[in-house]
Amino acid sequence: MKSYLRPNISAMQGYVPGLQPDDVSSWIKLNTNENPYPPSPKVVEAIVSEIGSDGASLRTYPSASSQKLRELAGKLYGFDPSWVIMANGSDEVLNNLIRACAGQGQDVGYVHPSYSYYSTLAEVQGAAVCSYGLNDAFRIEAFPEYYNGKVFFLTTPNSPLGFAFPLEYVEELAGNCGGLLVIDEAYADFADQNALELVKKYENVVVTRTLSKSYALAGMRLGLAIARPDIIAALDKIRDHYNLDRLAQAACCAALLDQEYFQESCRRIIATRKWFSTKLATLGYSVVPSQANFVFASPPDRNGSRVYDALYDRRILVRLLSDPLLTHGLRISIGTDEQMEATFAALAEIG
Ligand code: PMP
Repeated sequence: MKSYLRPNISAMQGYVPGLQPDDVSSWIKLNTNENPYPPSPKVVEAIVSEIGSDGASLRTYPSASSQKLRELAGKLYGFDPSWVIMANGSDEVLNNLIRACAGQGQDVGYVHPSYSYYSTLAEVQGAAVCSYGLNDAFRIEAFPEYYNGKVFFLTTPNSPLGFAFPLEYVEELAGNCGGLLVIDEAYADFADQNALELVKKYENVVVTRTLSKSYALAGMRLGLAIARPDIIAALDKIRDHYNLDRLAQAACCAALLDQEYFQESCRRIIATRKWFSTKLATLGYSVVPSQANFVFASPPDRNGSRVYDALYDRRILVRLLSDPLLTHGLRISIGTDEQMEATFAALAEIG
């Protein structure tokens, strides 16, 4: 049959997201780094109020620019709103950064292992993808003295491993990149440090954030990027003009305003992460020190798939990555204390 597709699309594999079971309430679901706590009650109030009793508000398009949210996020992070763009999940803005900067055959780089979706997005664009490994000290192996690709993605804290690169190291990379250094801070709210100050200091640095994890809003699809206004202006040309729907905008506004709730939710997850990491060590697991809302842990026999299956049989869902570099362990999202106690008890039984 004749192919109607671009050759790179025919040739590529699609990204496979973590399993989202239909009967989610019958699982302890620790496979996609969602927040185990609900979003702020003010988010629910804001969504209900936006819909109203008859849904009349839904007749009209939402704000195209999400300007109010740019102002709120700008205030929260210490930037003028012209440095902020809102996104339909941070995935959207990661995609648009590639579309804005990397043409056919031009280089896009990322750290392996990290978020493999960068590679999928670059392949769709027809860009050339190059990944750089990590050494035992969790630094990038053989990173060129000067990286001349169009975009380099640095996930910090790293997913799936959970460690964070020190800020001085990230700063050094910013100076060594000829193109954009996109610092994907999807998990930064659970970390000790973040790289926002580098956006002000280096013209090629972009920071992306998501409300999917720390704000418990994965289901609303909300993210953002912070960068120099000329980069933001370019991203504005590319995005869908109504990229955030009305309910997402209302939810985002309420979530960003309720900092007290947000901080308490992060605090609890960090405390549970520390407890769970210590307990795993007592079972002989090796655990990467985590700055995120998950841990990457390997059982003593380094057989991730054995433990994955045994947890699955007990209706505990964690993430086993197919990457051969990662099959010795599991990425386990941090749930509530009760969920993590149950998971620890299951792991102790499985051995
Ligand atoms: N970056 C990283 C490192 C992630 O793990 C994820 C979530 N899978 C994303 C970005 C995308 O998040 P969002 O839900 O905001 O699209």
